[in-house]
Amino acid sequence: MKYFLTTLGCAKNTVDSMKIEQSLRSGRHLATHAPDEADVLIVNTCGFIDDAKDESIEVIKDLDNQRNEDQALYVVGCLTEIAEEQVKQAVPNVDQIFGAEAWSDIAASFGSNASNYDIPQPSISNLGGISAYLKLSDGCDRPCTFCIIPTIKGKMHSTADDLLIAEAKFHAAMGIKELVLVAQDSTAYGEDISVRDGLAQFLEKLSIAVPEIPWIRLMYAYPGRVTSNLARVMNDMPNILHYVDMPLQHGSDSMLRRMKRPSSRKARESISYIRNAMNDAVIRTTFIVGFPGETEQEFDELLQFIRTEQFEHIGVFTYSAQSGTPAALMQDQVDDELKTERYARVMELAQEISLSANQSVIGETVDILIESEEPTRSSGGDLVVVGRTYRDAPEVDGLAFVKGEFQKGSLVKANVDGALPYDLLCTPIDS
Ligand code: SF4
Repeated sequence: MKYFLTTLGCAKNTVDSMKIEQSLRSGRHLATHAPDEADVLIVNTCGFIDDAKDESIEVIKDLDNQRNEDQALYVVGCLTEIAEEQVKQAVPNVDQIFGAEAWSDIAASFGSNASNYDIPQPSISNLGGISAYLKLSDGCDRPCTFCIIPTIKGKMHSTADDLLIAEAKFHAAMGIKELVLVAQDSTAYGEDISVRDGLAQFLEKLSIAVPEIPWIRLMYAYPGRVTSNLARVMNDMPNILHYVDMPLQHGSDSMLRRMKRPSSRKARESISYIRNAMNDAVIRTTFIVGFPGETEQEFDELLQFIRTEQFEHIGVFTYSAQSGTPAALMQDQVDDELKTERYARVMELAQEISLSANQSVIGETVDILIESEEPTRSSGGDLVVVGRTYRDAPEVDGLAFVKGEFQKGSLVKANVDGALPYDLLCTPIDS
C-alpha cells in the first residue's frame, strides 16, 4: 500500500510522524509525496492552540475534497485526543481516527504486506539526513494554565535509556551529525521512575555511546530544573553543545503565578548554572505576550527581564486561548491589537540582542555544519553554502553563510567575519 502523510504542529509531532513512518515501512508500505498516488492519506494533527486546530481541520477537509473514492483518509495525533467529535463533525467521511502514539495501530490497520526482500529502514525523525530528533519522553506533569498538552498526552513517561541509546546509535550509523533532544520537559527525564537528575545521567551515557555524533543539542528544559550537575555534564562531555533551549514564558512573577510557572528566581538560578558552567553558552527561550490580565507594568517587567538576561535567541507567541485550559476561562483577556503591539515590542528587543550576540563572535573561529545540497552564488559573485554553528538549532534559529563549496553534512572551520540580526557571515579557514 502507498501512503501520503502530512504533519502539523511541533518538532515532537514530527518525531511521532517518523515513528508512524517507521511502523508503516516495517510493514513494507511505501511513502509517496503525491496525495493522488496514495491508497491512504494520513493527517498527523496538532491541537495545541485553536489556530492549530483550525489549520488541522482545514488540511483534513482539503484532502477529503481532493481524494477519490478508493482512497482512505486517516486522522491521527493530538487533535483527535481532545476533539475527536469536532473532527467527525467537520469531516464526517474520515475513515479512521487514531489517538496520539497509536503508531502500530495505524500500521496494523493497513494489513500485512509481507515480502521476502528487505527495504532499508529510513532514519526515524531525520531532518534532511544531517540532524535527527531524539524524543526522551512524552506527556507532561506540569500545571501550566495555558497548556492543553497534559490533557492530550497524559502523564510524563520516559523512554528507557537503552532504547534511546539504540536509536542514537542507529542515527550515528546513518551518518547523522546532530541529535536534537526533545520532550515536553526534557529536564523531567527519569522522574517517573524516581531517578534523580536523570537527564544529566542520560546525557553522560549518550555522549559516551555515540562519540561519532559531534553535536548533541538540548531542547525544552524547564526553569528551575537545570541543576548545577546538569550544566557541569554539558560542559564536560565533548559532544554536548553549549546550547540550552529553556522556555520561560514570562519575566513577571505575578504573571508566572497566574500561568502556574516557576518564578523568575528559579529561571535566573538555572540561567546562572548554565552561564557559570559554560562561558560560551547560548540560551534560547520563548515568551507568551498578552496572557490574560497582563498589565503594562507586567509587560515592562518582561522587557526588563529580557534586557538583563540577554538571551541569544527569543521566540515570542501571542497568547491564544485553548479551550479546556484554566487560562481560557480567566477574566481580562487581552485584546488582539495590544497582543500584536507587545509581540512587536519584544521582537524588536530580541532582534537587537540577537544582533549584538552575533556581533560579539565576529573574529572567532567556529565549526559550521553544512546543510546546503549545493552552493549558490551570492550577489557579490562568491559561491556560498549554508549551515549552522552550535549557536543555532535547526528550524528555529539562524544560519551561517560560508564562502566556498562544501559537502552537505561536513563540519567546516571558519572565521566569523560578519553578523546579521539572526545569521552569521563566515569565511572558511585555509581558503
Ligand atoms: S511544561 Fe510545557 S508541555 Fe508541560 S504543561 Fe507546561 S507548557 Fe505544557
